[in-house]
Amino acid sequence: MYEMCVGPEKPGGALVWHVMAKQAAATLCGQRLAARIEASRAERARHCPDCMASFAELMTSTPH
Ligand SMILES: [Zn+2]
Repeated sequence: MYEMCVGPEKPGGALVWHVMAKQAAATLCGQRLAARIEASRAERARHCPDCMASFAELMTSTPH
């Protein structure tokens, strides 16, 4: 299970949508999000390219 979460692309960077595995400590791109950011602040945020790439790889790999 994966969920989208809003956070800075890198510390101090612009807000993006990251992908995070449930109960993981860090996003797929390795960011540890310090604080939950209200989704309303990120309505126009783009998706994190690193997370999207990792997520696409996970989805295309055989689930065994
Ligand atoms: Zn990310």
